Amino acid sequence: MVMAQEWQQQRVEASSNPDVWIEKTSELIEQYDNQRQFEELAMAYALQAEAYRYSGKESEAQRAIQEGLRFAELAESKIAKTLLKMNQTWYFLQRGKLRQANTSIVYAIEYAKASGNKDLQIEAEILHAQVMQNTGDIARALQILEQLNRSAYTARPRLQMEFHALIGSIYMDVGANDIALAHIQDALDISREHLGEWDVSVLEYNLARAYQAAGNDNQAEQHFKAALEISEAINDDLGVAYALFQMASIDIADKDYQQALTRLNEALPQFKSAAAHPMEAQSRLSMVSVYLGTDKLDNALSQLEAATSIINTLTNDELHQTLHEHWSDYYQRIGNYEAALKHYKMSVNFMQKVQQQTRDKQVQEIMVRLEIKEQETTNELLKKENELQQLELQEQQTSYYLLIWIIISGFLVVIIVSAFLYQQWKARKNFAELALKDDLTNAPNRRAIVRICKKGLEQAQEQQRQLALAVVDFDYFKTINDQFGHDVGDNVLKRFAAVAKQSLRNHDSFGRLGGEEWLMVFFDASKEDAKNIFERITEELNKSPIDGLPNDYRVTFSMGFTNAHPDDSFDSLYKRADKVLFEAKDKGRERLIITD
Ligand code: GH3
Ligand code: MG
Ligand code: MG
Repeated sequence: MVMAQEWQQQRVEASSNPDVWIEKTSELIEQYDNQRQFEELAMAYALQAEAYRYSGKESEAQRAIQEGLRFAELAESKIAKTLLKMNQTWYFLQRGKLRQANTSIVYAIEYAKASGNKDLQIEAEILHAQVMQNTGDIARALQILEQLNRSAYTARPRLQMEFHALIGSIYMDVGANDIALAHIQDALDISREHLGEWDVSVLEYNLARAYQAAGNDNQAEQHFKAALEISEAINDDLGVAYALFQMASIDIADKDYQQALTRLNEALPQFKSAAAHPMEAQSRLSMVSVYLGTDKLDNALSQLEAATSIINTLTNDELHQTLHEHWSDYYQRIGNYEAALKHYKMSVNFMQKVQQQTRDKQVQEIMVRLEIKEQETTNELLKKENELQQLELQEQQTSYYLLIWIIISGFLVVIIVSAFLYQQWKARKNFAELALKDDLTNAPNRRAIVRICKKGLEQAQEQQRQLALAVVDFDYFKTINDQFGHDVGDNVLKRFAAVAKQSLRNHDSFGRLGGEEWLMVFFDASKEDAKNIFERITEELNKSPIDGLPNDYRVTFSMGFTNAHPDDSFDSLYKRADKVLFEAKDKGRERLIITD
């Protein structure tokens, strides 16, 4: 049953039917226990831990992890150990225990390496990056991901999904919401096609968060609802609580306090029973906002106290920052400005600490990206300062401390803002470029070339020019990988990028669609031109030997070429070109087929 080849598929099934798999694994565990098959037993526990996690049963998950690790140790099953340690990492992340999460993931990586299973190694590395992101060390998280992007190649959907999801979430952290949305949407698409319901619900949730960050509450609400529905369908109590908590935060922004309270009252007990401490604390802080909004100051105070005692056991600086912000709000409301100011200062201290963490160990390139975060924090400071100033006017009460603070922070803000304005402009430019380049070949990536083609279609219509699209796919590329290794396959791709760049006319473009497929966009190209390009690139490609390939090895590709019609969309145009590419493959490869 729990066979080595099948466990990846079983994880997908468990994600769609956690209850079924909790039961199934229980039976398996009993059976393997009787037969003393420890390796299978460990794998069954690993799967069970995951199924428990998918239904929000955190303490049961932890019990399965402990048992599983015992047998994995006995059987020396590296794969089971990796899976169990990864689940343990998730468990600690959920509880806000970042240090333990970090220890677990370090073990998971070691075991994954020892197992020799490459996909598992990548999965553990991605989770490592996620732990780093959780601890606020965005620079380190990005380093890990960039390293992976450069050195590892995998076709496994789960990994591609996790990669996109995490990159998206990091872009969100630094305020590049557009790019974040695109990545998370990619991740969601992959999940819908290849993974289980639990994964889909998590990504619906993440997409909603990205929309929320981009200020699109309508879309956000829709996707939170989708997440909620799936979580309910698979009995994932914790997933339900997450969605309700976020929907309540939209309610609060809309001042729909009654609705918010109902949702929070439903979410809170789930977070509590799952020992999801950070989420419990955040729910209580949301309740504080509700109670402040409805003038129930006593209730606000008791939730604040409860949140404080939770957050004091956690090391998450962002949570501490939010906590002090709420205390400051509370004290403002009861007119104790001295205490309000004190908590406000503490919240600023934590904010600076968060920044410091992200600034400590970074490579140059990453630093530029982080300036955006910096700018956000500065905006935050400005906003706070305005709020305080307004409050002061309203109450017609000049607090001595407040005045001093406003003056000092006013000065600071002016200095910081002017220093960062220039850098922010530079950072945004850099960002745009990074998100449009393919890491391996430095050529424009899918997003970039598709965008160029769409713009070209519009331009062609306006200016009465003829646009054409070609789709290129290497012949027998798998054979190159299989015979000479992935690195050599990569060299072929790099050579192609260099040759195409050289061979195309100035106003034509190309980009990597994915894998070993490319797109080329031409303006006013005749059939002759298409033929010439095809022949020139084939010739240039083989002019000098490619690193790792025998000198006489001929690399070839096939190409489908089509002119755009006035009513073409990118999709219809691409479909037509792809169809003739397929024909070219069918007719023996190494050829160009043109269609109208
Ligand atoms: P065909 O002539 O029918 O196109 O045969 P093919 O072997 O090229 O088949 P297909 O296009 O389906 O295979 C593409 C292969 O390209 C599969 C995948 O392993 C490999 N590949 C995709 N992306 C990369 C990459 O970034 N680097 C390397 N080295 N290989 C890649
Ligand atoms: Mg292909
Ligand atoms: Mg191919």
